[in-house]
Amino acid sequence: MRNKNVTVSIEEAQEIILDSVTPLSCESISIMEASNRVLYEDIVSDMMVPPADDSAMDGYAVIADNTHGASKTNPVRLHVIGEVQAGGSIVGKRVSKGSAIRIMTGAAIPEGADSVIQFEDTEETAGYVNIFRETTKYENYRFAGENIKKGDSVLHKGDRLSSADVGILASLNYNTVKVYKQPTVSIISTGNELADIGEEIQIGQIRNVNAYTLYSEVKKYNALPDYLGIAKDTLKDTKEMFLKALKSDVVISTGGVSMGRYDFVKEIYSDLNIEIQFAWVNVKPGRPWAFGKKGNKLIFGLPGNPVSTLTSFIQFVRPALLRLMGATRIKKPIINAVLEEDITKQSGKVHLLRGFFTIKNNEFHVSTTGNQNSSVLRSMSDANCLIVIPENTTEVRAGERVAIQLIDHDEIE
Ligand code: AMP
Ligand code: MG
Repeated sequence: MRNKNVTVSIEEAQEIILDSVTPLSCESISIMEASNRVLYEDIVSDMMVPPADDSAMDGYAVIADNTHGASKTNPVRLHVIGEVQAGGSIVGKRVSKGSAIRIMTGAAIPEGADSVIQFEDTEETAGYVNIFRETTKYENYRFAGENIKKGDSVLHKGDRLSSADVGILASLNYNTVKVYKQPTVSIISTGNELADIGEEIQIGQIRNVNAYTLYSEVKKYNALPDYLGIAKDTLKDTKEMFLKALKSDVVISTGGVSMGRYDFVKEIYSDLNIEIQFAWVNVKPGRPWAFGKKGNKLIFGLPGNPVSTLTSFIQFVRPALLRLMGATRIKKPIINAVLEEDITKQSGKVHLLRGFFTIKNNEFHVSTTGNQNSSVLRSMSDANCLIVIPENTTEVRAGERVAIQLIDHDEIE
């Protein structure tokens, strides 16, 4: 049995959390609501897209061989025997030696033709068209099934649907699609010092920030946030708030998980039969923690400092929400970047520094965004990545390479 009070590594914490996740069930929704939702079914095409060979240009459907030798000064002259519009096809007419059919982008290629020459390279007068250059076979020619073939497995269970994916569903005639349900997420702030937006602020008080950053993150990942309010630092208030929150699939609280005299979150976990899984993570910011579960419910007691809250959300809550929604890809990309300043730190913990990366001469470069105190949200607001400095590293020099996590990038694996 694991000692629940030892400090776990970032990777161990992630593993413990993911092991606790049971993905939700599914629902059928309109594809118009499906963007960013996670697919519950494999999508296998039962049709060809496009259904027939069609034209990629406005121009004339011709036989490529018949344009042989055509030039501006010596055009080939073809008889225009008809026209086919986008969405149309032409029956009873066939392109043959000496003839052409006027064709619009997206129209089916008429019988006999094997190439389309665009209007720009032609001139039509009195039923005849002059072709000013040679075309090759299958120029501007889109093949049936070029996009998707019948039987192709195009989208997969666990994919988070992009706009292009929604377009694929539309092209395959899906009106609705099966996706994983969205977890409901209760958000709690704890702390006597917190004043909510609009409340008068007394000396010693600060604004409640975490509820809003978390609300925004939960929405970003397409789960369903519900902000319950601020719990005072009393056992009674904290417990009542958690009781209310436990109606949701996920609870996220902030503050009250440290060693302070009025940090009650861990205490009420045992009161409420929430099994604590780990209480400390070997990372800065974001060391004090209270991750627990109760049945299938996940309870994240995050540290209170606004930056610790956000970095903890990104490392631990985000992947859990994505897995609850069945997503296959849950990792933010990590790449190497050239550090633009010297960094020193103490040994013992992994540090996640707020950084801004740029690309110079095809290489990633990164610098920190200023004050790294975990209460300074401004340097998080200025950041587009987290610089990962390993546990036992005490110094990295400008010009050396560091790992950076691209927090604004979609999950890639
Ligand atoms: P705690 O672990 O409860 O002592 O909180 C750690 C630090 O985070 C304290 O300085 C708190 O004032 C601050 N903090 C806690 N909750 C919030 C919040 N919701 N918004 C902004 N700061 C907070
Ligand atoms: Mg507190």
